[in-house]
Order: sequence, then C-alpha cells, then structure tokens
Amino acid sequence: MYYNDDTTIYFDGKFMKAKDAGTDLYGQSLHYGYSVFEGIKSYKTDHGTRIFKAKEHYERLKRSAELMHIPFDYSVDQLTDLTYELLERNGFTDAYIRPLVTCSPNMSLSKGQKSYLSLLAWEWNNGYLADKMKIMTSPFQRPNPKAFKVEAKVGGHYVNSILACQDAKDKGYDEALVLDENGNVAESSGANIFYEKDGVLFTPAKGSILPGITRQTVMEICNELDIPVKETFFKPEEMRGADAGFFCGTAAEIVALDSLDDVPFTRNWEDTASGRVQQAYLKLVRVLSL
Ligand code: PMP
Repeated sequence: MYYNDDTTIYFDGKFMKAKDAGTDLYGQSLHYGYSVFEGIKSYKTDHGTRIFKAKEHYERLKRSAELMHIPFDYSVDQLTDLTYELLERNGFTDAYIRPLVTCSPNMSLSKGQKSYLSLLAWEWNNGYLADKMKIMTSPFQRPNPKAFKVEAKVGGHYVNSILACQDAKDKGYDEALVLDENGNVAESSGANIFYEKDGVLFTPAKGSILPGITRQTVMEICNELDIPVKETFFKPEEMRGADAGFFCGTAAEIVALDSLDDVPFTRNWEDTASGRVQQAYLKLVRVLSL
C-alpha cells in the first residue's frame, strides 16, 4: 500500500529502492521510540507540484531533533531540495511525505550518537471532503509536558495516540478528543481542534499540544477573513453543543465534526465561519498565496 517494487526513497545519504532498504535491529529508535519525524503534503498547483509549508515542517523537524538531543545536520534548504527530487523521481504530485530521523545502534539510554534521515512518500489524493466525524472524550490523557517534550514530533509519543484512537474506534466513534493532565481539551490523536461559538473560534493554548502548522495556517486565514480566534484552555463541556467544530492537520486538512460525546454541533456547517475557513484552506494549498 505504501510502496511497490518501483518506489524510490531517500535513506542515509542516497536515493534507493524502498524494497532494498533495511533497518538495524539494534537501533535506539526501534527499541525506545526515540525518533523524530514529520508529516508533509505536496499538491498539484497552477505552478506545478508544491510542497505545502516545507520550511515550517523542516524547521519543526530540526527543532524536534534538537529538543531530543538527536544529532541532525541537514539544512531546511537541503531537506526541501531532496524532497522535491524524491517527488520527481517517483512521478508524484499529490503526495504525503514522511521524513523520519532514526538513531544508530545503541541499547543504552544516552542521547543519540548518529542519525539517519529517511524520506518516504506515497500518493495521496483526497479529492473529496472526509465525512463529518463523531468524536468522544478519551479516557487517555496527552503525554504530560513534564515527562515529554510535547512540542516535538517524536515517534514514542504516538503510542499514546494509538491507544486513544483505537479506544475511540472500539467504542464506535471516528476519533478521540484527548485532554491534558488538568482535564482541558488538548487535541486528537493526530490533529489539532477548534470549535466555534457565535462567530468566534476557540482552540487550546499551547502547553500540551503539538503546535500544528495547519493550526497556525487556520489562524492566519482567520486573520485575513476577520474571524476572531481565541487560544485558551477550556473543558470539553464548553465545546459540547457549540455551533461547529473541526480537526485540522496536514493529513486531515480541515475535517468538520458531527458531534462530541453524542451531542451534535448545532449549525449548518456551510453557514459557519469554520466552513469558510475550510474553503479558504482548500484553496490555499493549491494556490499558495499566503
Ligand atoms: N497534533 C498531533 C498529535 C499531530 O500528530 C498532528 C499532525 N502532525 C497535529 C496535531 C497537526 O499538526 P500539523 O498541522 O503540523 O500537521
């Protein structure tokens, strides 16, 4: 599904076939989740294939490595150039790109000694808007910021995401709404969240979330469209039954929410500020005017 015999990847300094790549069973990342990664998308635009917010994603990758004490020397420009070359070698336009930085063999709990960069990509044609999501408040909490560098995109953090997401699916929902250690709304397993009340958008303040690049883009769009946004801490009770809500992330783009804990969002999506933001985002990724 992710690759076939012809797929090219970039690994440890060279392009090669995905089927010929391997990993070291003694690597620190495999054993301890000690890796950093990104999730990026490219789109077919009027100006050819464009990687959306490449600079922001690669700056975050470098920052994640730094926060985790993983040595990583690639520059943002090098990473961007390599990614365009990867897309070209595979003939991809609309694609999902997964840069991953893993560490060399080391079974001790000391910092990474050497790292390897992998750049993987696969075709991704949404082509349609995802169905509205029914979500539930998760019994799992986000990783505590005193235990993890939550603003870094680290492999091991996603064990928490898998537990929360699978639990919600097992209970018949599409996704989990995960709270922080104080019971405030944080995010979903892999996207940030906004809700709307009386024309104002609310989103959790930074602290226990991955500060998403899409979240930032949404705030920039709101600024352009004169839609007020508040970054604040709030409980799920404040969101339930609000006018509208959505998840946002590179992969999810902007997905409308149907209900939280079986309580529906009340307004017709097309008539909300959130709906306007969604339209603006879908346009932006294809024209890149911001
Ligand atoms: N939160 C989590 C936990 C995520 O995994 C993601 C996806 N990277 C996001 C939020 C959204 O981030 P972005 O908009 O940068 O993709």
